[in-house]
Amino acid sequence: MTDIILFGAPGAGKGTQGKNLSEKYRIPQISTGDILRANVKNKTALGLKAKEFMDKGALVSDDVVVGMVIDRIKEPDCEKGFLLDGFPRNIRQADVLDATIKAMGRKIDCVIGIEVERKELVRRLGGRRVCRKCGDNYHTIFSPPINMGICDKCGSEIYQREDDKEDTIEARLKVYEEETFPLVDYYKKKALYVAIDGIGGVDQITGAIVKAIESHK
Ligand code: AMP
Repeated sequence: MTDIILFGAPGAGKGTQGKNLSEKYRIPQISTGDILRANVKNKTALGLKAKEFMDKGALVSDDVVVGMVIDRIKEPDCEKGFLLDGFPRNIRQADVLDATIKAMGRKIDCVIGIEVERKELVRRLGGRRVCRKCGDNYHTIFSPPINMGICDKCGSEIYQREDDKEDTIEARLKVYEEETFPLVDYYKKKALYVAIDGIGGVDQITGAIVKAIESHK
């Protein structure tokens, strides 16, 4: 079983690394941001509740997100493990996750903390563009698509997430620093936190993460 938390600020590369790790370990990547965005897109009751918080960069209420994650990790495709991306984001979420995992007779193997300095996070988030259909990530300067505004992989429209606009980026980083960052100490105390340098090539960083996971098994 491989139960992993991918941790890091917005823009640290959790989504990109999660995709590689999910393929390597054949376990699902559970991104709370992606699940919430799908709900917003489909205008579900949950999505309607979450949208105003997401658009301003605030956290969606714990009650909504925690229930969503607990249901998800009990699905059959998580039997061999899971990769949490974007959850937990505060101590309360971490406590509920801890209790749930224990009750399931499982344990978190490690918390991979992808560390990137603030200035670089702002640069990455400001230029980030996402495919509306397949979710592939681009960057206006570092990895632009071949044809402007069009996804290389599926040909759909590329857009800028509402919460990747300048003012909201600052709000999200503030929320991260105040509510999410304390989890670094929380997981260090449990001897689960592994710091990974988030600057470098995507594959090089994946390699470092795999090494860390293997040494924690
Ligand atoms: P992300 O794609 O991970 O940056 O998440 C986008 C937005 O979804 C966040 O800014 C929050 O509004 C919301 N969100 C994602 N994960 C959580 C979580 N674990 N708890 C509360 N809100 C979340």
